[in-house]
Amino acid sequence: MPPTRQRRIAMMGYRSVGKTSLVLRFVTCKFDEGYDPTIENTYTKSVNVAGQVYQLQVIDTAGQDEYSVTPNDYYMNVDGYILVYSITSQRSLDIIKLIYNKISDMKGKIWVPIVLVGNKTDLEEDRAVTMEDGKKLADEWSIPFLEVSAKTDEVTTKDIKGSRSVEEVFAQLIKAI
Ligand code: GDP
Repeated sequence: MPPTRQRRIAMMGYRSVGKTSLVLRFVTCKFDEGYDPTIENTYTKSVNVAGQVYQLQVIDTAGQDEYSVTPNDYYMNVDGYILVYSITSQRSLDIIKLIYNKISDMKGKIWVPIVLVGNKTDLEEDRAVTMEDGKKLADEWSIPFLEVSAKTDEVTTKDIKGSRSVEEVFAQLIKAI
């Protein structure tokens, strides 16, 4: 077995889009509503991708908006980003564009892996962002895109076949890293 490798991932996006829920789903395999939403936390989990074990440190940021796009620390020692919006909020997708631009500015010409995630697909009746809108943006940026539900643990994006778990979001990012 090759030695374990470490990778740091930052969860970014507007508040209440489900960043913490996605991390908890991934780390504890549960959907839990009883956590403190204000605390910024780092979670650790080992995953096996194609025979290689990675120890992931997932930084669950407190959330960004147009006034605090994001502190510069997030650009240090981060190997990849998961940009999360909610399919029920156009504003949350608009914030993603600001975060993406900031990451691009900070990283300059250095390529950094990013995955775009539209969360809360179980709230289809409240959908405000079409799957095509998310996909179009991801294609423009040439990054992977998935729609998921942290609540039901389903992945509904058509390009990704045979995956039924939020774990796929993290697997996509590790592949890109
Ligand atoms: P964060 O601020 O981005 O970390 O968002 P949270 O993970 O704290 O979630 C915000 C709210 O949305 C909480 O009430 C969650 O229970 C809820 N939530 C998160 N993900 C989902 C989801 O996939 N479906 C539904 N229905 N609610 C969700």
